[in-house]
Formats: sequence, C-alpha cells, structure tokens
Amino acid sequence: MDCIYCKSSNVIKNVIITGGNHMHPTGIVYTERKIWTKTEPIIGEVCKDCGSIRLYVQNTNRNWKQHK
Ligand SMILES: [Zn+2]
Repeated sequence: MDCIYCKSSNVIKNVIITGGNHMHPTGIVYTERKIWTKTEPIIGEVCKDCGSIRLYVQNTNRNWKQHK
C-alpha cells in the first residue's frame, strides 16, 4: 500500500515496534474468554519519503478492551 499522506510507494512494511515485554508487547489490549488480558502488538509502516508512520494490528477480530 502506498503512503496515505504523500502517495509515495517507498514504504517499509511490517516494522517492529519496541517496548513492553514478551507477555505484553507495546500494543492494544483485549480480553480473551473474559479472563485473560492480552496485548495485540502494534505493527508499524514507515514512509521513507515523508517520514509518516502508519500503525496497525495483524488480528483485528479481538474483544478490544476499552476505557470505561
Ligand atoms: Zn509518505
């Protein structure tokens, strides 16, 4: 996919985002079977032309945990 900001195709996909730990990588939180709190890692995509970053997750079908 081209850069959504500058339309460049010079985009590096599937870039690792650091932080967190093995059990809870930097990501967004979901619950599994209403018991376990887990984290879906955020994946980065970097445009080498304008420097913008797009963030996404691999698995979208989660029971995302929202702020109350
Ligand atoms: Zn760009």
